[in-house]
Amino acid sequence: MLIVILPDGSRREFDDGVSAYDVAAGISGGLARAAIAAEVDGELRDLCAPLAPAGTSPAAREVSVRLITKKDPEALGIMRHSAAHVMAQAVMRLHKGVGLAFGPTTATGFYYDFQLDKPLSEEDFPAIEAEMAKIVAADERFERMVVPRAKALEMCRELGQKLKVEHIETGLAAEETLSFYRQGEFLDLCRGKHIPSTGHIGKAFKLLSIAGAYWKGDASRDQLQRLYATAYFDKKELTDYLTQMEEAKRRDHRVLGKQLELFTISQTVGSGLILWLPKGAVIRQTLEDYLKVELRRRGYDAVYTPNIGKIELYQISGHFPYYSDSQFPPIDLSEREGLKPGEGERYLLKPMNCPHHIMIYKAKPRSYRDLPVRLAEFGTVYRFEQSGELNGMTRVRGFCQDDAHIFCTEEQVADEFRGCLEMTQTVLKSLGMNNYRVRLGFRDPNGDKYVGSPEVWDRAEASLKAVCESMNLPDMSIEAGEAAFYGPKADFVVTDCIGREWQLGTVQLDYNLPSKERFGLEYTGADNTPHQPVMIHRAPLGSMERFVGVLIEHFAGAFPLWLAPEQARVLTVSEKSEEYGREVEQKLKDAEFRVTGDYRGSKLGAKIREAQLGLIPYMLVVGEKDAAEGTVTVRDRLEGDIGAMPLAEAIAKLRAEVEAKTVRQVADGGAPPPIDRGTNNEY
Ligand SMILES: [Zn+2]
Ligand SMILES: [Zn+2]
Repeated sequence: MLIVILPDGSRREFDDGVSAYDVAAGISGGLARAAIAAEVDGELRDLCAPLAPAGTSPAAREVSVRLITKKDPEALGIMRHSAAHVMAQAVMRLHKGVGLAFGPTTATGFYYDFQLDKPLSEEDFPAIEAEMAKIVAADERFERMVVPRAKALEMCRELGQKLKVEHIETGLAAEETLSFYRQGEFLDLCRGKHIPSTGHIGKAFKLLSIAGAYWKGDASRDQLQRLYATAYFDKKELTDYLTQMEEAKRRDHRVLGKQLELFTISQTVGSGLILWLPKGAVIRQTLEDYLKVELRRRGYDAVYTPNIGKIELYQISGHFPYYSDSQFPPIDLSEREGLKPGEGERYLLKPMNCPHHIMIYKAKPRSYRDLPVRLAEFGTVYRFEQSGELNGMTRVRGFCQDDAHIFCTEEQVADEFRGCLEMTQTVLKSLGMNNYRVRLGFRDPNGDKYVGSPEVWDRAEASLKAVCESMNLPDMSIEAGEAAFYGPKADFVVTDCIGREWQLGTVQLDYNLPSKERFGLEYTGADNTPHQPVMIHRAPLGSMERFVGVLIEHFAGAFPLWLAPEQARVLTVSEKSEEYGREVEQKLKDAEFRVTGDYRGSKLGAKIREAQLGLIPYMLVVGEKDAAEGTVTVRDRLEGDIGAMPLAEAIAKLRAEVEAKTVRQVADGGAPPPIDRGTNNEY
């Protein structure tokens, strides 16, 4: 006898050996058809798996069961991963000798890595899609089977799947039993979970692209072909997603960055290292100037620190060796010092600014009266990203953080944390990024990468949660396992105007780096005894590179007036008004506008078109009449001709728009297609 507790608290009795499907069928036939998986005692399960496996169940047991239908957030990932199996099945029907690697989901779809001699191309997509449609129409059941390791090895050998054989022997060496899933003739080693049958995939799936990949991401291993695809439960959601992809292509910051001369990457300088061109530098500088004013207003002190530091510094902080894989290897001075490698001084390219700021805090004794100490720096840091992961400005190897560290007393934490969150909100608002959610990253209770005691972590997490709750932050979520290794954090995840999510600003609480085991930071309390301060790390934009990359895409290159590299252009109707045109240009420069003039003899229409294409917010057209009357005819890039006005009036109008940091170019992109936060099906 099994007692099933449903989410509404109701209890129902079932025989031993029933599955979640039987529970659904017991409620209604419609629910049985709609259910695709179940959460059993908090754990995701296949719909047809027994709720209490035979032999393990005591005479009477209680299980809580939540049935998952396509309306639940977990459903999309389960369906997409199942579609990856179907895609693999289709590819194997159409091609001989296909080796299977991995087929996980991504935030927007899924892929499968194949080992195949024949290179696949987009021309193969229609045939693969047609074959997938057949498998979906056949509504093949996904059957799970669990076998001992030895049997799993034998099965993969028989199937000729040598990558799976290797994976069982290496990556899965500790597993005693392994699971396989079969649909129709297709059999694959997989952890699961899957939908009950292929029919649940429906018709809204599409193959997207093909790329090279390596077995287990190792460039010295087998080269694989990665087939990307996506699937939705709803046809309209698929159409919306494909439209969004088109729109994303049009906004690609790598393309616009080149066209608009904002940044470049030179292979002679190095991959993932951004060279800011003059126009891009204007945007960055304007953002930095704006932030500097905010920082002064909020009581921060600016500091500067070097780009390298001794390895011992990062050993104390724990950045080395915890994260050595994501850092450039140490610079070893041993040979210079006439010593054997590793015996002399070793330096690291700075992976984080925090240890340097900590040493500034430690440069003199601190009293409780000095706290909070807020140290800010636009600090450049270096991380070693795999070359395959690099992407324009958004995934780089060197980047400048709008960083700051706050050292405060335990009593000040809530106010300081709130101040950081408020600053981030102010900054995002001034950039027209009003659509964001706040994600609280807490530790994974089972993880072992964290420094500091569980009591310290509990205190940090409780304090952060209380502050965020008191602020009524939009769409706040708590995610276990998303914390930094030194403390919990709040990340701002911004949705851009075409519905894509970007993790930008971050505020992180840290009880660990100041601790005795790390830097042993102190201040003298009112009681005249030493106390340990709390640290807050925060970066409202995250990194200048990534943020500007996202901004380029958010605005599709058309920056609001206060950020635009070229804010206005003077256009002459004919050569006769060149002198007046130059006078107008100078007056705007005197008023601190970024302005140029086009005094060529070409037709006005052509000059306007060029300025429009250059995404210049305002054009000031001047003719002989304007010269006589001291006026300019203002053309707004978005609204067209807005008429003639005295020059002083035009300047005042532009100045008001800059001062208000008005954002006019972002249209409401409508509801974004659903995002799957990812599932992990792979062994
Ligand atoms: Zn699977
Ligand atoms: Zn930091």
